[in-house]
Amino acid sequence: MTVTGVPVSLSRSRTAGAVPTEGPLVDRFGRVHDDLRISLTDRCNLRCTYCMPAQGMVFQDRADHLEAGEILAVTAVARSLGVSAVRLTGGEPLLRRDVVPIVAGLAALGFEDLAMTTNGSRLAALAPDLAAAGLRRVNVSCDSLDPDRFAAIRRRGRLEVVLGAMDAAEEAGLGPVKVNMVPLAGVNDDEIEAFAGFGRDRGRIVRFIEFMPLDGEGTWARGDVVVADEILERINRRWPIEPVPGPDPAPASRFRYLDGAGEIGMVASVSRPFCGTCNRLRLTADGAVRNCLFSDEEPSLRQVIRSGGGPAEIEAVLRASVWGKEPGHGINDPGFLRPARSMSMIGG
Ligand code: SAM
Ligand code: SF4
Repeated sequence: MTVTGVPVSLSRSRTAGAVPTEGPLVDRFGRVHDDLRISLTDRCNLRCTYCMPAQGMVFQDRADHLEAGEILAVTAVARSLGVSAVRLTGGEPLLRRDVVPIVAGLAALGFEDLAMTTNGSRLAALAPDLAAAGLRRVNVSCDSLDPDRFAAIRRRGRLEVVLGAMDAAEEAGLGPVKVNMVPLAGVNDDEIEAFAGFGRDRGRIVRFIEFMPLDGEGTWARGDVVVADEILERINRRWPIEPVPGPDPAPASRFRYLDGAGEIGMVASVSRPFCGTCNRLRLTADGAVRNCLFSDEEPSLRQVIRSGGGPAEIEAVLRASVWGKEPGHGINDPGFLRPARSMSMIGG
């Protein structure tokens, strides 16, 4: 198999053997997994063109969603296995009515980092409670600084609400706010410099995310992707940048402005896959463990828990999932098949 984007040393270092029973969550290639993404729901109040279809999205049965106590049972085990960072996502995580107690429960487990990715529609009202519960920071998604275009891309959202949410998050102490922007060719890619300028002016870190083949409509085409090289070149022409030295915390590569006006992040999953340093594990809203956005392997922790399994059984599933992780996602391989679940059903 071609292992696109994976260092040769990684693809050759595969070790045979049994799933480890002690130590951190490690895969067969030595990658230690200490970052957990938790989807709180597959539901969303928006219908972004690159994520969900306009109509007809089929949602999971709510009874299949992990309850707060079940999420905390899994995360307590993950914490004991060395997971140090948790990000809450979805769907839209702030649609969960028990989101504040869930944050409080996670904070009590002592994660070094506790963050959330949100579309911002409900953030302004909830930011103080989330901060008081122990949330550290937020990423707010925003794909256009033009109200009409914003509404066209997100289909149901309003720009002014999301900009207000960023302010409210900062006031509540959830900054520095990161702004997730997905540039789409011919749609909003003329705003790359405007977003960079917006981040510089407001002290926000804009993260440009390459459009991935995880859209709910299944119409992704390579020509729709605005690749990292183009984005970086354009920003560099206007405001020179350089890579931030040091190991990149996957997935975002960091670049800083030479004039000291902050930094940007680049999530180049398509053109520069970062599988070789991936430290990430996902828990879907319905309790499946996914070791990669693009993998269809997903053992169900919901079934384990609801059939009486405790910490030892949860640990065994987490360890086996990480151990079974492939060296790379293979987006650029000719035989790549998009996963059955789209982004909102996995948790981006
Ligand atoms: N609803 C929240 C939000 O929009 O921020 C959290 C979930 S959303 C799935 C997480 C992130 O994934 C967002 O920043 C969104 O822009 C991004 N995203 C969704 N679909 C994507 C795709 N097909 N390619 C790249 N990024 C995508
Ligand atoms: Fe909802 Fe986030 Fe997907 Fe947009 S990107 S449809 S806000 S889950």
